[in-house]
Amino acid sequence: MKRTTYIGLAAVALAASPIHAKTTALVGATAIDGTGTAIEDSVIIVDDGRISCIGTADDCKVPKKAEIVQLAGRYVTPGLIDSHVHFAQTGWLDGRPDGLSAPDIYPYHETMATLRADPGRWHRAYLCSGITSVFDVGGADWSVTGEQATDTDRPDRARARAAGPLITHASEYNENYVAGGHPELAPFLPFDTDDEVRAAIAHLQAIGSNAVKVWFLKPKPELREELENRLLLTGKLAREAGLPLIVHATGLEEAKAALRAGATILVHSVDDKPVDAEFLDLLKVNDTVYTPTIVVGEGWLRAMAAVATGAAYTIDDPGKCVDDAIIERIVTPEGLKGLAERLTPDYVVDRALAIGREQAIMEHNLRAVRDAGGRIAVGTDAGNPLTLHGASIYWEMEAMQAAGMPPGEVIEAATIAGAKAMGVDAETGSLTAGKSADLLVMAEDPRKNVTAFRQISHVMRKGTLYEQHELQVR
Ligand SMILES: [Zn+2]
Repeated sequence: MKRTTYIGLAAVALAASPIHAKTTALVGATAIDGTGTAIEDSVIIVDDGRISCIGTADDCKVPKKAEIVQLAGRYVTPGLIDSHVHFAQTGWLDGRPDGLSAPDIYPYHETMATLRADPGRWHRAYLCSGITSVFDVGGADWSVTGEQATDTDRPDRARARAAGPLITHASEYNENYVAGGHPELAPFLPFDTDDEVRAAIAHLQAIGSNAVKVWFLKPKPELREELENRLLLTGKLAREAGLPLIVHATGLEEAKAALRAGATILVHSVDDKPVDAEFLDLLKVNDTVYTPTIVVGEGWLRAMAAVATGAAYTIDDPGKCVDDAIIERIVTPEGLKGLAERLTPDYVVDRALAIGREQAIMEHNLRAVRDAGGRIAVGTDAGNPLTLHGASIYWEMEAMQAAGMPPGEVIEAATIAGAKAMGVDAETGSLTAGKSADLLVMAEDPRKNVTAFRQISHVMRKGTLYEQHELQVR
C-alpha cells in the first residue's frame, strides 16, 4: 500500500519577484473597500506595509519614490478571510477521531508531525487562494502554540488566530490519541463537571488561545439542563478571561443555548430545523457572528463516495494552490480499503439524504439570518475531507451567493465581517487608510458574481505584492 509522506516536500519558494517596495501605488482599479462602497479609477498608496491613502487621484497624490502598478480595468478588494479553518486537519479522511478516518493507514500522530514540521504549508495555500487572514477554531495545543499560529505577522503568511482544543461533553474520542501514545495531540477538553470547565479555560489561557471553543453536540435529554447550565458558566468564565466564546452548535436548541451563554461566533449553520424568532432575536441582541459553512457536508459526502466507489475526486483548485502531497492522498482513494468496507451503498445514500436535507435548511436559515440583519461571516471548515485549505473558500462563497446572498454582501462576509469575527478589524478587513495592506486584484467584477475570485491576478499581504502565479504551489 502506498503511503504519502509530507516530510521532504520541497519548500515552495513564495515568489520569484514579488514587489516589496517601501512605497507602492496601485493606480486605476475600481476599489471595492469591503464595507459596501467602491471607488472607480482609484489610487491606493501603500507605505511600509500599510495603506496610507485610498481615494481618487485628487485625494491621493502618488509620491515620487513610489513603485507604480497600473491596474486600469481591474478590481481590488480586501484579502479574503476564512473564519473557520483547522490547521490540524489535512482536507482528507485522516484527521478526525470522531468521524470517518483510517488511523491504521494514516496514523494521527504522523499526520500531525508532518503538518507541524512545515508551519508555512497552509499559509502558502491561503495566500495563493487570496486568503490573507484565518481563524483556526479548534485543534490540539500545537495548533495554538506552533509557528503556523504564532509567527504570522509577515508577508508570506496569512494572519492567524487559533482557539486550540475544544471543550466538549463528547471528549471520549481523545481515547484514540491516548491509546496511540500521544495524549498531547488530543483535541478535546472535558466538560463533565464545572471544575473541568475551569481547568479547561485555565489551560487555554496558559497556552495562549485566542478563544474558548465549545463543541456542543446534541445532549442526551436527561443531561440537557445540566449541560446548558455549564455552557452558561463557560460563557461567564470566558468573558472573565477576556476570551471570545465560539460554539459549534448545529441544532436549533443547542444554538439558542450557545447564544444565551453569550457566544460571539456560531461556527456553523443551524441545520436541523428553520431558525425561529427567538433565535434571531438572541443572535441580534448579542451581535453574534453566524458562519454558515454550507459546503463542508458535501465535501464529506464526495470523499465518502470517492472511497466507496474508488473513483478519484476531481480537485477544484483554479489557482493551483493545493500541494502535491494532499492531492496524492485524494487521488488514491483505493488506499482506504478498510474504510471502504464500512461505506456500504446504504450508508452513503443515507448520508447523502441527510446532508442534502441539512443543506436545504442551511440555505433557508442563511436567508433568514440575512433578512433579520444578522452578522454573517464566511468560514469553510477547511481541513475536513475535500474542504481544502485555501481553494474551498470559492466553493463556500458561491454557495452563499446561490442561497440568495447578493455578491456584494458575500464580499463583506468574506472581508470585514471575518475581521470582526477574528477581532482584527482594526488591522484588516477593509481598504482603509491605516490598515494592513492585505488586498487582491482581479479582472472581473466580483460585485456581479463572486466567481471572480477564482481568477485573482495579484495578492498583496502586508504591502508585498505577488502576482498570483508566483504563489502557485504546483
Ligand atoms: Zn470546524
